[in-house]
Amino acid sequence: MTVGDHDFDADTLHEECGVFGIFGHPKAGPLTALGLHALQHRGQEAAGIVSFDGGQFMAERHQGLVGEIFGRNNAHIETLKGAFAIGHNRYSTSGGSAARNIQPLFADLVGGGIAIAHNGNLTNAYGLRSRLVKDGAIFQSTSDTEVIIHLTARSHYGPVVDKLVDALRKVEGAYSLVALTSKKLIGVRDPWGVRPLVLGMFEGAPILASETCALDIIGAEFVRDIRPGEVVVITQDGMESYFPFKPQPDRFCVFEYIYFARPDSVVEGRNVYEARKRIGEELAKEFPAEADMVVPVPDSGVPAALGFAAQSGLPFEFGIIRNHYVGRTFIEPTEDVRHLSVRLKHNPNHSMLTGKRVVLIDDSIVRGTTSKLIVQMVRDAGAAEVHFRVASPPTKHSCFYGVDTPNEEALIAHEMKLEEMRQFIGADSLAFVSMEGLYRAMGEPRRDPEAPRFCDACFSGDYPIEVSDNAGGLKDGQLSFLAEVA
Ligand code: SF4
Repeated sequence: MTVGDHDFDADTLHEECGVFGIFGHPKAGPLTALGLHALQHRGQEAAGIVSFDGGQFMAERHQGLVGEIFGRNNAHIETLKGAFAIGHNRYSTSGGSAARNIQPLFADLVGGGIAIAHNGNLTNAYGLRSRLVKDGAIFQSTSDTEVIIHLTARSHYGPVVDKLVDALRKVEGAYSLVALTSKKLIGVRDPWGVRPLVLGMFEGAPILASETCALDIIGAEFVRDIRPGEVVVITQDGMESYFPFKPQPDRFCVFEYIYFARPDSVVEGRNVYEARKRIGEELAKEFPAEADMVVPVPDSGVPAALGFAAQSGLPFEFGIIRNHYVGRTFIEPTEDVRHLSVRLKHNPNHSMLTGKRVVLIDDSIVRGTTSKLIVQMVRDAGAAEVHFRVASPPTKHSCFYGVDTPNEEALIAHEMKLEEMRQFIGADSLAFVSMEGLYRAMGEPRRDPEAPRFCDACFSGDYPIEVSDNAGGLKDGQLSFLAEVA
């Protein structure tokens, strides 16, 4: 594990996607663009919107940030006519980053068109896809979402909702999805409810969105979470709710609270910011440190650091300042300045740190390479001691449910014991909040090993949904797997 070829984006986890849909508002296209802008943290590589104007479907799908695609380009927004729209933010893993994978995906089925935007990851997509290809299906993308479209198209059921449910009964994995037909907006959460999906209302128009922050940006009212295993069908006549799948225990992704969701979102009844502060409090109770100040690794470490400071009585200080204008493009400095790469995103606030014993708080440690650079940076700025505290248990396992994690061998906590990790990152002490502390912070009395309240598989290895294939779909540059199925 070296720091020389460090890539910051490779050392954080990435949520794959955010979804948004609105039914029956004359500004459906622009409102969807705003909703996607609020969900930008869930995917920064590409965004797309499909709208329907009563006669035809229109699509704008492009690589880049939502503001670049829709904010600066009125032509794209003007294309999206009609009162019905769905949209999608993408961070590519499964299926690569090719333009043809940008969602919402669209297909003409018997009975009309359907557009689908999907957050999550199917754990049996590879096997399903290979069978579909053998049966003659012609895939246009390498996205696992297209598997859902093919299965929907081939279903023998009549109404499109029945076809979609029939398709989803064949898939395994995590999905929160929105779908648009000429007459319906459909929202579905997988039976475990791994990924979030909420229902809102704006000027009489129902909205489906990954997080409540997408409702806030347009002034929409939060109505409720879509339940695990629920299918909602919104038409001109109102909304109907179904539970057509075999019930499963709720296993919402606990990492949404730790890192993925925006702190101002309310997810499954919990405010994300408050949840993060409570994790910091638990961390301070479990692993206090003799120190002069608490310093977050910004931005994601801030709420937990506030909680740690409040619980420990130590002052909270911005000892590291983050540059918010670093995009994904500036991650490959040349060899002669590579050792400075940490400064692209973070700069020490020297006057705060000099001579101080610092508790450094971060939300998680993935590969450990960023943590090592940040500890060194804080030491170089004159800190007398650096005590690293992590607001999640050690990330030891890969996620197969819609989060881009490296292979286990690249996860520092999978490869090293605590003391080895401490030495690697160069801290004076290192501690992670315990699993029990994390559950207490979520308001749970304890973690029931037989029936944990959340998916916590990347910490525990306890995967709630079978991982039939973990190929994760096709890779960048790989157009098909015909060689494998031949
Ligand atoms: Fe979330 Fe981790 Fe479960 Fe993936 S494995 S869904 S990141 S808790």
